[in-house]
Order: sequence, then C-alpha cells, then structure tokens
Amino acid sequence: MSITTDEDPIFTLTTGPVDAYPEVLRGLARPVLYDYDPAFLGFYERVEEKLRSALRTAHMPVILQGEPVLALEAGAASLIAKQDVVLNLVSGVYGAGFGFWARRYCAELLEIRVPYDEIIDPASVAALLKARPDIRVVAVCHHDTPSGTINPVAQIGRIVAARGAYLLVDAVSSFGGMDIGPDSCSADLFITGPNKCLGCPPGLSLVGVTPRAWEKMKQNPDAPRDSILSFLDWEHAWRRDRPFPFTPSVAEINGLDAALDRYLSEGPERVWARHALTAAACRAGVLAMGLRLWPADVRTASPTATAVRIPAGVEDAALRAAARARYGVMFSSGRGETLGKLVRIGHMGPTARPIYSVVAVTALGGALRALGHRLDVAAGVAATLAVIDDGAAG
Ligand SMILES: *Cc1c(COP(=O)(O)O)cnc(C)c1O
Repeated sequence: MSITTDEDPIFTLTTGPVDAYPEVLRGLARPVLYDYDPAFLGFYERVEEKLRSALRTAHMPVILQGEPVLALEAGAASLIAKQDVVLNLVSGVYGAGFGFWARRYCAELLEIRVPYDEIIDPASVAALLKARPDIRVVAVCHHDTPSGTINPVAQIGRIVAARGAYLLVDAVSSFGGMDIGPDSCSADLFITGPNKCLGCPPGLSLVGVTPRAWEKMKQNPDAPRDSILSFLDWEHAWRRDRPFPFTPSVAEINGLDAALDRYLSEGPERVWARHALTAAACRAGVLAMGLRLWPADVRTASPTATAVRIPAGVEDAALRAAARARYGVMFSSGRGETLGKLVRIGHMGPTARPIYSVVAVTALGGALRALGHRLDVAAGVAATLAVIDDGAAG
C-alpha cells in the first residue's frame, strides 16, 4: 500500500513551509475583523508586544505583510543607500541570493564566499572590514537552510558593531528554534518569519529594527515609501492610534498571535532544547547508518534542519518520492547549488519533537534500501533512540 502523489503525506518533515501547530490552525480560523475595528487595533498592538518579548529586544518590531523574502528585499532597498559599500557574506544559497538584491541598491558589493558546506570565519570579516573601513552595511544569513549550517552571527555582529557598520541578518529559519535574537547578534535589521520554527503558514515577515537603522532608512532618499517594499510606512503601524499603510493580513496575524502565545508559554529555552535534541538524535541515526552529513564540521550543523549527503548512485527525486510513497514522509530537497546533492529533514516548530527523528531516520534509511543502497536501518534507529533516551534521562 502506498501514498499516492494526490494524497497528503502523513508526516511533513520539511524545512519550510512546515506543518503548523494545531493552536495556530485554530487561530487562523478566528473571525476576520475589519482592520480599523478598535478590537483589531488593540489586538495588533498586543501581538506586536508579544513579538517584541519573543525577540527579546527593547525596540518595537515591524511586521511586513508578506512571507520573509519581502523583508529581505525591502531591507536591501531601505537600508542600503546608493553611495554605500556593502559586504555580503556567502556560505549558501540564501546568502548568495541576498547579494542579487544588495547589488541593485549599492555603490559597490564585496563578498566573502566559502564552500556551501562550510561557514563564514569571523576573522575573515574582521580582516576585510579593517582593509575596507568604507564598508557601511554587512549582510549575513544565520542558518543557510539549503546547507543546514549555522553561521557565527554573534561574533560577526560584535566585529561589525565595533566598526560602526550596519548589520542585516537573515534569521528566517533559526529564530524560534534556537537562542538567537536581534540583540544577541547586534543586528540592525533582524529578519525572520513565522513559517519556520514558530509553526505558522507562510505569509508574514517579522523584523527587529534598531533606532539607528530607522535613522539610516529615513536619511536614505531612495528608501521605498508608499510602496509594498517599504519599511518606513510601517514604523508606527503597531500603535492602535496610527493607521496602517494598507490592510494587514488579518488571518495571518491571528495565526501569529496563537504561535507567539504557544512559544512564550512553553518557554523559549524549552522550545530550543527540543529542537536541539531532535536534531542531535537525527544526526546520530544518519551517521549510524553510514551516511554523511552535508556540513563539513558537525559543530556547524543546524538544530532546526539536518542536511544529509545523498550517496553516490542515488537520485534525489527518486529518494524523496520513495520516502513519501512508502512511508508518507515528505522531506525537503536541496536548493540551487545544493539541489540533488542532499536531502533535508526539518526540525521546526511542531516537528521539533524527538520522536520525529525516529520517523525521519526510518523513512530515509528505508527509502535508500528500497532503491538498492545497502545500509543498516536498525543501527540508525537504535542510535537515534539512544540520544533521545539520554536526553530524557538528563
Ligand atoms: C525560508 C527562508 C526564507 C524565506 O524564503 P522562501 O525561500 O520564500 O521560503 C528566507 N531565508 C531563509 C534562510 C529561509 O530558510
């Protein structure tokens, strides 16, 4: 008996969009209020307050009404002025992608590039900032999801801050799944979204903005205004006594509210711990089956996604199709340069529960075996369970 491609999978173990929390689905089903209903205006302000608490920052964040690519492009358009020299740090597909937007708005784009299974060395950033004191804006992707690697943004942030440059961080797929926030990495624009570790559907951008970033955007005559790409239009929209530049995504705000309640009441530290344990258990199972992780150094592997190298002779699409058809498990593929080279298992939000690593390792191992690749699935499951049991005991 197999799951057809017309049927829903049983387990969505992807790296985004992710399976949404039941509380979020119920939130999405709340009544859709008129955006200028006083009840909605007060509600929006309270959601902004909860988001500020979740981000652990003193500054009121901005919600842009579109999935996080909107904030990344709007961030490039707003923060980067045409005389600016920009340093873009590239250790993966999203890092490289930001460069395409940055190039459009700046005077000169510099890049530090490393192979996509490695991470950025903060010393290389320090050296380039010293050689080029005219660098005004630095951009980095924290968790480059198509590689499953984590960049040392806290260290990079200290280096950038010491030079007085502005830092833009893409933390879309790490915020809410590990200890990262705008203050801990000194980010002037900290861009994330609810559709990864907060367990919401895609549809909003959540952004931490420092006062100096607001100043820089205001002084930039080319920063979008009266535009879908505008940050400035939304600066005061969180206040119940201020208008929205256009209609906010009411249902998505309802879903976000439920997700923030869940995150804050479970306790961020506990949420991060179950992401870390799920990923550790998954990695142990993958390695015990004789497979290799994509990250060159396991210490750089993400707690919110596990990227596994596809063994030689196995075809990516066939592997994911087999996992889905036999077991009803949906995995993510690589993207861009990593497409076809790896398969990704998401541990985000509701799927960041250790038992899902048993499901993932079993389905990955079983699918590989079905395609004729020899490996010991039982050894993988045993190793996964050992990590879970250790975690449960600790
Ligand atoms: C998911 C994600 C985004 C949002 O972009 P989509 O490709 O549209 O999903 C941005 N940055 C990173 C690192 C992401 O993982």
